[in-house]
Amino acid sequence: MFSSLQKLSSLVKNTLDVATEEAVKTGLIEIRNIVIGLQDKIFLLQKENSHLIKVKNELEAKIVKKEKWEIIAKQYARTEVAPGFIAYRPKPDTDAAGTQHYLCQHCFGKDKASILNRTGRDGGGTRYACPECGTQFTDHADKDSGGAVVVGAPTQTSSIFRGY
Ligand SMILES: [Zn+2]
Repeated sequence: MFSSLQKLSSLVKNTLDVATEEAVKTGLIEIRNIVIGLQDKIFLLQKENSHLIKVKNELEAKIVKKEKWEIIAKQYARTEVAPGFIAYRPKPDTDAAGTQHYLCQHCFGKDKASILNRTGRDGGGTRYACPECGTQFTDHADKDSGGAVVVGAPTQTSSIFRGY
């Protein structure tokens, strides 16, 4: 389309160079101006089209990412592990339920599945930290169970399973 207009523009210019009648020259100048206007519009449309293709590809990538996240997210339930300690735990009978773990609620809100690491345990309870955002939690309700607590084998009295 653009190259056809360039050929038409050249043809009009060449014809204008040899035209002798004033009426013909006036008509050719008008045609040339219309062609130049069309070339400008096509250039802008091509630029806009490239931008829209880029936006479309970005949106498609976001949709795919969101769909993948929703498959993960629906396998988790928001739970208050201890007062002030909110996390996401795997729902029973899901692929995620294979190993006991908790996802950071802060990262979950940003569509990221970041497993909380158990970083230690002291008299105040079990400490957890998110490796992604650095958020730290202490499960104070877990302070009386005594001994080392292993992820995947929480005790019956653990607050983690309260309500489930
Ligand atoms: Zn986090």
